Amino acid sequence: MNKVGFIGVGTMGCPMAANILSKGNDLNFYDPYVQEDNRSKLLNLGGKYCTSIKELLNDRDFVITMLPNGNNVKEVCFGDNGLLKQSKKDYNYIDMSTILPADSISINKEFESQNIKMFDAPVARLVNNAIDGTLLILVGGDKNKFDTIKPLLETMGSDVVYCGNNGSGSKMKIINNYMSIVSNIVTAETLTLVEKSGIDLDLAIKLLTTTAAGKGHLNVSYPMKVLKNDVSAGFKNTLALKDLRLALAQGSIDGIDLNTGKSAIKSYEEADKTNYKDLDWTSMFNFIKEKNNLI
Ligand code: NAD
Repeated sequence: MNKVGFIGVGTMGCPMAANILSKGNDLNFYDPYVQEDNRSKLLNLGGKYCTSIKELLNDRDFVITMLPNGNNVKEVCFGDNGLLKQSKKDYNYIDMSTILPADSISINKEFESQNIKMFDAPVARLVNNAIDGTLLILVGGDKNKFDTIKPLLETMGSDVVYCGNNGSGSKMKIINNYMSIVSNIVTAETLTLVEKSGIDLDLAIKLLTTTAAGKGHLNVSYPMKVLKNDVSAGFKNTLALKDLRLALAQGSIDGIDLNTGKSAIKSYEEADKTNYKDLDWTSMFNFIKEKNNLI
């Protein structure tokens, strides 16, 4: 049985703390702004509500934070009554909030200076996964100590993945979110274009999910080409540029602002002025890396 202190029991933290409790662990929780239904849910499961970080920390082996942003995490760590102001130092600290990787790294340095092991372990997936205990948990920190925290994290997630040194969990989380948050907009723009075109939405979705558009480039085009170091043209960049221009022209006729497409076309237009013009469209991976001095 682990003795856990959980700080921040909101939308995600409450079901995560509930899963820790329901798997037979002992849990203290602290959240000065806690919603009453979350508080009573955790009390009913046997959790102990604490009114200070000092009280929460008491005899804990693990402390977890699940807070909205980096400033909240810093306040809990460095504030006047925060974690690092307490005399107790023999615990593992796991921050599961989504924060800037640079913040994860700098916060870790402070914990390291007090000989407290810290990990960043933000979560991917949605609130229903927090409830079911099927989160994807991305861990950064000392690899040799990963096994110390893994069983506890497995009470909350079905996939607990070590990503690298401190900050790596936060980096992987931001990378995942960048792709999914941007592709959310291109998905919304695409389906708006469908509705305006008069094509049946269900039919369009069925078709889109059979191509790279809906299956995703990481499933379809990249593994066959650029990730195999083959950028010989299947579908040339210059043709992709032509087709993107067609879509933007259609959007303009339909009065739909295709902002993601307008941003993406800049890269295709730049590539079209170079020898990337006649290479496979997946070579845009190399083009972007080249622009950023990575090759
Ligand atoms: P939330 O706002 O619902 O919950 C945050 C909790 O932290 C609240 O109960 C709040 O009272 C508490 N809190 C704020 N400041 C505090 C402090 N100083 N001390 C103690 N408690 C404090 O947020 P959430 O949706 O649970 O998200 C938490 C983190 O998880 C965020 O970083 C978010 O980006 C990330 N996340 C959220 C989701 C989601 O679907 N909601 C999914 C993945 C990751």
